[in-house]
Amino acid sequence: MTVRAAVVGGGIGGLVAALALRRAGVDVRVFEQAPAVGAVGAGIQLAPNATRVLDALGVLPAVRAIAVEPTAFEFRRWDDGRLLSATPLGAAMVAAYAAPYLHAHRGDLVAVLGDAVLAAGVPVEVGARCVDVLPGERGAEVRFAGGRRETADLVVGADGIHSLVRHAILGAADARFTGHVAFRGLIPAERVAGLPLTHTSTVRMGPGSHCVHYFVSSGRLLNVVCVIEEDAWTRESWTDHGDPAELRAAFAGWDPVVRAVIDELSAPLKWALFDRLPFDRWSKGAVTLLGDACHPMLPYGAQGAAQAIEDAAVLAACLRDDSDVPAALARYEALRHDRTARVQQISRGNATRFHLPDGPEQEARDAAIAVGNGLSPDLEWLYAFDPLTGHA
Ligand SMILES: Cc1cc2nc3c(=O)[nH]c(=O)nc-3n(C[C@H](O)[C@H](O)[C@H](O)COP(=O)(O)OP(=O)(O)OC[C@H]3O[C@@H](n4cnc5c(N)ncnc54)[C@H](O)[C@@H]3O)c2cc1C
Repeated sequence: MTVRAAVVGGGIGGLVAALALRRAGVDVRVFEQAPAVGAVGAGIQLAPNATRVLDALGVLPAVRAIAVEPTAFEFRRWDDGRLLSATPLGAAMVAAYAAPYLHAHRGDLVAVLGDAVLAAGVPVEVGARCVDVLPGERGAEVRFAGGRRETADLVVGADGIHSLVRHAILGAADARFTGHVAFRGLIPAERVAGLPLTHTSTVRMGPGSHCVHYFVSSGRLLNVVCVIEEDAWTRESWTDHGDPAELRAAFAGWDPVVRAVIDELSAPLKWALFDRLPFDRWSKGAVTLLGDACHPMLPYGAQGAAQAIEDAAVLAACLRDDSDVPAALARYEALRHDRTARVQQISRGNATRFHLPDGPEQEARDAAIAVGNGLSPDLEWLYAFDPLTGHA
């Protein structure tokens, strides 16, 4: 029997899930609330554990064509820009993990994935906002704004951190404001051509703040993320337009390179960063979740989308092996739970590590990353994992 699936959410996780499920013989449709498949302009880093899946799904050449392959990720000091740690990427990643490390513009990436989904014959309905999901004896019913109802043998909630599907199957639980707020923006490369910026992923760490920058869109744009700490997020929206003057003031004493980059951010977006503690479970009957819907994390391991992509591959593999949907979902969840919880924990740990005030702890951190890497002592565990086989 062919399984009929409805994927709620056409972000990175939902689109990769659609591709992977289609390949596993599932009859899949995607329902996206936005009027078009797209993503707010900003960058995304794709580590080898994610590009390995994109390769297996046949989309890596198209992703490479819109991406930048960085040479290294670097960690630098906040005030003088001194290099603390450099980890080779580029050919070194391919040699170590048989998959590249790439930087992409999220809009470009979602466009490539959307094209691949359509080329695979998967219908994508836009303007379809899911308002409820009712798990049944067999399958589930998805309800949309406007009253339309659809039934499916499998419903996948790939609808992000404020997931309606999660709410429908597990009940209300607000995401936690982490106290971190990110200013994000893209700068045309020619506007920063005079600065000493190369094709690296660079994290500059300072007391209570950090700044990340890297090139995307084949090198035409510099993606910048500046994170500061705030006591509360009182605005209704979890994204907002940031005040460039507030951003400049927050980084006033920093390395002149950072200040020059920030001066070029004329209309930064301001994002409150939320996360959740790991859930015990995230499936009910024929309904499951993936990506930020079930394990949202701070972006400090650059792994949120990568974990959503891994989820998609594992979910499809479980469905390929077993057309008993609830049994396949139980296996999927068991295979994904501990790994994603550990990545959530790594990301949260970096929130503290990246923002240490100058002093003994910062000195110990800098000494440790000088002989390791700045991102995580678990890099091998993160990048070598093959969700297609479950093995490192
Ligand atoms: C500043 C920042 C930097 C980051 N950098 C990285 C990085 O470098 N690498 C990395 O791997 N990750 C990174 N992440 C994390 C990454 O962006 C997320 O983990 C990833 O986008 C999650 O994908 P998703 O498909 O699960 O959810 P989303 O991308 O949130 O997509 C959810 C989709 O569902 C749709 N939707 C929502 N509700 C409904 C509904 N009711 N009905 C229908 N559709 C609905 C939305 O419109 C959206 O299209 C970063 C995040 C932030 C904030």
